[in-house]
Amino acid sequence: MLSLLGFLLIVLIKPYYRQDRIKTIETISDTIESLLLKDNVNKYDIDNTAKLVIGNNVCTIIVNENGNEIYSSDSLGQLCMLDKKVTIGEESYIIKNEPEKFIEMLKKESSFTTTLYSDITDTEMIMYGEQFKGNLANYYLAINTPLEPVESYINFILNQYLYIALFVIGVSLVVAFFLAKRISKPIVKMKKEANKLAQGNYDAKFESKSFSEINDLANTLDDATEKLSQVNELRKDLVANVSHDIKTPLTMIQAYAEMIKDISGDDPIKRNEHLDVILKETEYLNKLVTDMSELSKLQSGIIEINRDNFDFKECTNKVIELLKQLLVEKNIKLVSNLDDAVLYADEIKISQVIYNFLSNAIKHSNNNSEIEVNIIDDEEKVRLEVIDHGEGISEEALPYIWDRYYKVDKKFNRTVNSTGLGLAIAKAILEAHNAKYGVTSKIGEGSTFYFELSKDYEEE
Ligand code: ADP
Repeated sequence: MLSLLGFLLIVLIKPYYRQDRIKTIETISDTIESLLLKDNVNKYDIDNTAKLVIGNNVCTIIVNENGNEIYSSDSLGQLCMLDKKVTIGEESYIIKNEPEKFIEMLKKESSFTTTLYSDITDTEMIMYGEQFKGNLANYYLAINTPLEPVESYINFILNQYLYIALFVIGVSLVVAFFLAKRISKPIVKMKKEANKLAQGNYDAKFESKSFSEINDLANTLDDATEKLSQVNELRKDLVANVSHDIKTPLTMIQAYAEMIKDISGDDPIKRNEHLDVILKETEYLNKLVTDMSELSKLQSGIIEINRDNFDFKECTNKVIELLKQLLVEKNIKLVSNLDDAVLYADEIKISQVIYNFLSNAIKHSNNNSEIEVNIIDDEEKVRLEVIDHGEGISEEALPYIWDRYYKVDKKFNRTVNSTGLGLAIAKAILEAHNAKYGVTSKIGEGSTFYFELSKDYEEE
């Protein structure tokens, strides 16, 4: 921008000055004409005309019919051509000394403009002449002004331009330096964090206190990091699960099959014992694969929720019936207080949740203890709770039990009904129903699992 400005300044200064001079001559001649045609010319008018001449780099003279000078002013001094020999038309003369020649010329032409060359300034000058017909007499006006700015004037402007340009460049550099630093600093920091992320370090933090666009980018990257970290955790879980929960039963199946082949093939009692182990392990594998596929279908929305009106109390009783055998085995007393309630939900899926809550309660209760199942119907919602007095869950483990593959007891502890996916499936079902759900638990005292379904869904 500065270069463009400089270029335009240098190229345009001369034509612009020329234009300005011609305009000035017209203004001065108009002013003087109106002054001469006035009836009463006072000192104030003359002063104003002088000011106009002095302020505009011209010299001027007015003579009357007799060649007597009636007005003159000069802001050019040495440069003024009115007292120097000039060639106008075919004649050469000094206007001030030989006004009759000047008058004679104007009588013929009434006005003229001619360009002269000044040896003193090495520039072109303009000489303008005009005849005015006044009320009483005729007047003859000559105006002289340089057509180009003198070299010193150009130099002055260019010098000024240079100082201003240097100043602007200096200020811009300082401002640019600080701006660039403010913008680039957070980006450099983000790049470092992104490198960390690229190396698999999910502790990368992009948070930034900078411009809003950079803050937005940092927040988006932080979200992406969190999601990536979750995916990574899931992947690790999956690998751990495959190697633990799938590989172990497979190894068992292989070992027992080999045992039947080599040792117990001919012994019906031992063979049946070994075949039972193989069947139990395949049953577990089957359940695990079913749970895994159901959970991923639920989470990806492939399985739809088929809502309908159903009797919640009856549905809960059916689930209790299914688990009766387990209760008997552990001699657990089940106390149920079930309000009558009709729900508008997916009956099969809700049964699955109740089954999971109740079977967990049985698994984690001691023999000869008691489990309570309640349905509480209030105005707005229906709440189901399963209360056990078993081992309970520690405060640290509580937030994680709804995650897939999470088991509080990580040591080898595999039963057909323990895949670590039960609560994750329950969570997905309850969230699809927009249900409120949760657990309160104290280690050594027992746990209460509950969910609440709003009655808004109930169809008339
Ligand atoms: P699992 O198939 O292992 O039971 P879940 O997802 O149903 O998997 O439960 C996750 C974990 O939560 C269980 O491994 C267990 O440690 C804990 N848990 C669930 N219900 C109870 C309960 N009633 N009492 C104590 N711990 C429980």
